[in-house]
Amino acid sequence: MRPDEARGLDPFMRLLVVEDEPRLLRTLVRALREEGYAVDTATAGDDGLYKAESHSYDAIVLDVMLPRLDGWEVLERLRKQKDTPVLVLTARDACSERVRGLDAGADDYLVKPFDMTELSARLRALIRRAAGQAHPVIRLGAVVVDTRARTVTRGGAPVTLTGREYAVLEYLALHRGELVTRTALYEHLLDDSEDTFSNLVDVHVYGIRKKLGRELIRTRRGQGYSIEAHLAPC
Ligand code: CA
Repeated sequence: MRPDEARGLDPFMRLLVVEDEPRLLRTLVRALREEGYAVDTATAGDDGLYKAESHSYDAIVLDVMLPRLDGWEVLERLRKQKDTPVLVLTARDACSERVRGLDAGADDYLVKPFDMTELSARLRALIRRAAGQAHPVIRLGAVVVDTRARTVTRGGAPVTLTGREYAVLEYLALHRGELVTRTALYEHLLDDSEDTFSNLVDVHVYGIRKKLGRELIRTRRGQGYSIEAHLAPC
């Protein structure tokens, strides 16, 4: 069991941080691990590219000025193979840098020095967006979730969910076949500014079950929730 699992945080989100400045790298890794991410690191462009190509990361934080292979080169080569969301860290807020980053296939970028809360908010948004786009329509037996239109049908009939119910359902659907902890649901669904109580997730799950059937979401007592990976269509 990894430490993040022991702490009950979402063990499914895995990030790669490519940064050659030791202090910044340490700060990034510590902060992201505290948020429950599993974090791999690389301190040179070629190592970063190798790891990015060999693993399925949920997102990559990529510095531009790197030894051996710069961040732009890493990004251009990676994009020939993978759509992993990439957040680029640039040292200057020059317009040409921004244009270059978007041309190279960066999904977002931050100018140094940046705020850690800003970085983690951007990362969460990137991961959500990427997951949603990867599977626009998710079939869960009789229930169909269209993540692009943000609509849900059951047996072909539209079902109206509240915004929060939809968000919980979509997250569980995107992670079907996996155990999703309550902590993970909070980390990925709520803004930092939101103040809430832990039983709210249970309330949303109750609401979803009332509308879509009890059997859709399984409770794993003391751990969290899951949706089966393969539900028979009906
Ligand atoms: Ca650097």
